[in-house]
Amino acid sequence: MSEVTEIDPAVASRGSGTIPVYDPSTEELIGEVPDSDQAAVDAAVARARETFEFGVWRRLPAKQRADVLFRAAQIIRDRTDELAVLEGRDNGLNVAAARHIITVALDVLMYYAGWVGKVHGQSSDVVSDGVLGHYERYHNFTQLEPVGVVGLIIPWNGPFFVAMLKVAPALAAGCSAVLKPAEETPHTALKLEEIFREAGLPDGVLNVITGYGETTGAALTAHPDVDKVSFTGSTEVGRLIVQAAAGNLKRLTLELGGKSPAIVFDDANLKKAIPGVGMGFLAGSGQNCSCTSRIYVQRGIYDQVVEGLVRFAKKLPMGGSAEPGSLLGPLVSEKQRQRVLGILNDGVAAGAEVATGGKAMDRRGYFVEATVVTNTTPDMRLIREEIFGPVGCVIPFGDEDEVLVAANDTRYGLAASLWTEKLGRAHWFADELRAGQVWVNCSIAADPAMPISGHKESGWGGERGWKGIEAYLTTKAVYISH
Ligand code: ADP
Repeated sequence: MSEVTEIDPAVASRGSGTIPVYDPSTEELIGEVPDSDQAAVDAAVARARETFEFGVWRRLPAKQRADVLFRAAQIIRDRTDELAVLEGRDNGLNVAAARHIITVALDVLMYYAGWVGKVHGQSSDVVSDGVLGHYERYHNFTQLEPVGVVGLIIPWNGPFFVAMLKVAPALAAGCSAVLKPAEETPHTALKLEEIFREAGLPDGVLNVITGYGETTGAALTAHPDVDKVSFTGSTEVGRLIVQAAAGNLKRLTLELGGKSPAIVFDDANLKKAIPGVGMGFLAGSGQNCSCTSRIYVQRGIYDQVVEGLVRFAKKLPMGGSAEPGSLLGPLVSEKQRQRVLGILNDGVAAGAEVATGGKAMDRRGYFVEATVVTNTTPDMRLIREEIFGPVGCVIPFGDEDEVLVAANDTRYGLAASLWTEKLGRAHWFADELRAGQVWVNCSIAADPAMPISGHKESGWGGERGWKGIEAYLTTKAVYISH
């Protein structure tokens, strides 16, 4: 086919106004990005569509496509420090954690770059009843094709990494994409577009648009020319996306909320379990959909574990993204801080007890103290709702049956962590916990090759591993009669 017609790249990010972006560590304004309106969304989708139909990316030889992804990986490796500072300023992560986000995003990109050229269908020679009443012979095969133009919507936690979980497999599959970052943390997504352009990705294959969820995000999800949406965010918004996608029956991948349990048995190695469980609810200040904030502890070791977690929470240094040595950063916004404190205060009013923390920190930035809560009841918001803050609730249990019922008593099913030295118990719980990933004697472990798929209201489909790229492919069956 002929060449793609020229569309001004600026159009794809032109909006009707701007969105202020604040540094959560200092509350300072650090930038403004376009608030993309319907026309800007239409333009971005049109650019993606045009590149898809003309095949400027999907039809390139696999080697050339892999080269682009590997070149982008090299640029990210060279610019890790710069990207980490940007991510930390947007999101509040300290520099070490932000560096980790960039590095694991790089791992994801390398992993999917390796898939390019290795995606293929199956073949079979069959003889079947022909329409004319006599046997026909066929050579049949399936081919896996990119699903088309994809809308990628990401949240503010680990934004560069979550963007890569979508962008890398979408591009590896040959799709064209429109990526919308969260309004709070747009900067590294904008960099990603720049990096891929520098790596040689044809213009218009990856388009980043900034804007608010209820306008820009909703316009992208409802867009009739988008074939698929992959969304990471809250279950409530996930439901809106399901409705909006109904118009043209978009394919959907949904990575939604969680309310994951950690279970500590009395045979656990507590030297490992206490810091592991501590980081399970405190990493990223609890702003992690897989964080394990319901902590079930067997009665005989309950007091010891509560004390251990309190000690652990107290000693983790909190500080802003630029403060050396800090391990726990602020929440992303004042709105998020108010939500976390609201859930906590509701629990306390109903009888929950704060063993440590429980308040906003008396300093600039949207900080909440690392908090351990006891004496909760199963109906409290603390136990039912995703908190997305540095709050862990410790709950005593008696035996295996009791804790299994309690752990599964949630509408979510994203993750679970289990601490025991008994192999049989570990296998039994890995079988019976209704969660997309189970960690035994570890927490928040992740690998690009291991899929994450939410059970129950935690999502549809999966990301990472083969499942991650399969999400951007569709199957065609070809019959060739001979
Ligand atoms: P969180 O609770 O993590 O902030 P949200 O689900 O509110 O997660 O937001 C995640 C992403 O979804 C953000 O990019 C946000 O702008 C976007 N978003 C919010 N509302 C909608 C919507 N109605 N349609 C599409 N995207 C939305």
